[in-house]
Amino acid sequence: MKKIRHGLRAIRRGLAVSFHWMKKWVVKILGKLKSGRVLLSIAALAVAFVIGIVVSQAWSSDSSDGTPASSAGPSEADSEPTSSPSEPDDESTSTDPPTTPEATPAPDPSEGSSPSNPPDSTDADPAPTPTPVVVVLDQEPQTYQEALEDAARLSFDIVWPSACMSPIPHPDLLPNAPRTYRSGIHQGVDFRCFARGHPAVAALDGRAVLVVGNYEDPDSDERDLLLDVAAQLDATPPYTLLTLYGNYVVLDHGVVPDVGHVVTIYAHLESVDPDIRVGDAVQAGQRVGEIGNRGTHAAANGDFYTDPHLHWELHIDNQYLGAGLTAAETRFVYTTLFAEAS
Ligand SMILES: [Zn+2]
Repeated sequence: MKKIRHGLRAIRRGLAVSFHWMKKWVVKILGKLKSGRVLLSIAALAVAFVIGIVVSQAWSSDSSDGTPASSAGPSEADSEPTSSPSEPDDESTSTDPPTTPEATPAPDPSEGSSPSNPPDSTDADPAPTPTPVVVVLDQEPQTYQEALEDAARLSFDIVWPSACMSPIPHPDLLPNAPRTYRSGIHQGVDFRCFARGHPAVAALDGRAVLVVGNYEDPDSDERDLLLDVAAQLDATPPYTLLTLYGNYVVLDHGVVPDVGHVVTIYAHLESVDPDIRVGDAVQAGQRVGEIGNRGTHAAANGDFYTDPHLHWELHIDNQYLGAGLTAAETRFVYTTLFAEAS
């Protein structure tokens, strides 16, 4: 097969050269003579030229179909595009998250029922496009008043999850602060510790529902790749966010009356305490682990000592407390939340 293909390529190249010379010759003759006979022969040459192009195109499509190792003969190759009609559908779902501003209307899913249409040239691009995983929660954000009321109710039971620097006076350490490095916004509160060895403790009574204590930081190239995807999407996909948490613990506090289902997250831990296990009850104030910087830029460069801080989140009914509020409102909500905290 290879030899035949090489032979065909050589013939094609030869034809191309001879056509080139024929063209030159025709131009020359045209310049000198304009008799009917010459014009007739030129017409004949033009017809031969067109036939030559058609033949060479047929060969070229044969050779391109033959490049992937396939046992299918050239006559069966025409039906090959029908084997990949799902590709355009995959792409349409992957570029259609509601949080992606450039989302285009979803193509008609019935496209798959016309497999005879060959995929167009963009679908043939072998480079994989990022596939965002977006959890759609069709939920109205809380109003400022609702967030304040929930914060006030929770404030009677809550304890500070860390005794490190209070984040309340620093908008950049509170929810809704931009996090441009990952094309997203902060959903939690950062307690900066400036040194290793500080504990993170449960903010409320609850139960451990997710424990990641064996996290391995990506190297900086791998981390950059994840952040590149976020930049392309103009949003932080959930899997990227989870990667950036490092070691982390999720505590479920159940449904708090007049508030809703409350969950807290403790991230960037250097380590999780061994007695924090999925399913086990945890008391407010109980230590969950050591605060570190796992999942951060420094850790991706092998430095586990720079800027250790607890990234702490409080979610009510699947939304972080203060979602959608202004910086000033957010600050007041969290001031209220910790007003009574010990
Ligand atoms: Zn944070």
